[in-house]
Amino acid sequence: MYAKLQNIKVQPLPHFSSGDIHTDILRLDLLHPVVSGNKWFKLKYYLSEALAGNYHTLASFGGAYSNHIVATAFAAREAGLTSIGYIRGEKTTPLSPTLRNAMEYGMKLEYVSREAFRHTESIMAATADSGIYWVREGGFGTLGAKGAADILSVTDTSSYSHIICAVGTGTMLAGLVQAALPHQQLVGISVLKNHFGLEQEVGSLLPQKEEQASFTIEQDFHFGGYAKHPQELIRFMQDLWAQEQLPTDIVYTSKLLYAVKQLLALPYFPAGSRLLLIHSGGLQGNASLPAGTLPFS
Ligand SMILES: *Cc1c(COP(=O)(O)O)cnc(C)c1O
Repeated sequence: MYAKLQNIKVQPLPHFSSGDIHTDILRLDLLHPVVSGNKWFKLKYYLSEALAGNYHTLASFGGAYSNHIVATAFAAREAGLTSIGYIRGEKTTPLSPTLRNAMEYGMKLEYVSREAFRHTESIMAATADSGIYWVREGGFGTLGAKGAADILSVTDTSSYSHIICAVGTGTMLAGLVQAALPHQQLVGISVLKNHFGLEQEVGSLLPQKEEQASFTIEQDFHFGGYAKHPQELIRFMQDLWAQEQLPTDIVYTSKLLYAVKQLLALPYFPAGSRLLLIHSGGLQGNASLPAGTLPFS
């Protein structure tokens, strides 16, 4: 099954709107049941560079639940390339649903100790195959940002005052900053705890430009850290489904929606704001929860 851009839609969120604020969400999760969301966009230009350079294999890095790993496997297969995923930590049985999917897309998995995983350059250097095109963990890099910039062209997004997304590496945010209009404000919700170098990392992906949309990163909505999902968050996800029929994932999009709800209550956004949230996908990661935890799958 191919990723279909025409499946993406804008969904209004009545419970996040009031008389003077309107909120919509861009459902990138509808792109594909497994390879949903921003990872597909971030990989686009790495893939075209790999094809143009006649590489035979796409290789990258990630954890056992990585949305990026499964997207890399899928994108490589769609482009007729083979793929290798270097996975942090020991092989587990049973395999995570994410890695099972990656293997089904033909990816070869190599397990790397946590220690060795910190030195990805050594892994790359030890693999002396010039036919391998390497993509950094999470798709971090300027080509990744360039791909993410295309997210704002999926539909007409010019009328929004604020564009708000979850942030891991910051690659997607950097792309959105580049694509946004000067009157638009970008707000990133970091899902990592104490990731204070983030502004600088996003900045490193941006070209020097006079007129650039400005961005802010909010650091208080990580719920204890990356992939941590206390009961309060799960309950929020259940309520969100009941109120808005909006499925979210435990790592990124639930924290984005939770953050926006809190910010709206402050209030953080001026009257008249039109918010566009980015549903960046990641729903496949929910398969790690016990069956029946969430009312959607
Ligand atoms: C990877 C990911 C993000 C974060 O993207 P970055 O470009 O790394 O900041 C957000 N949402 C989902 C669902 C993701 O898989």
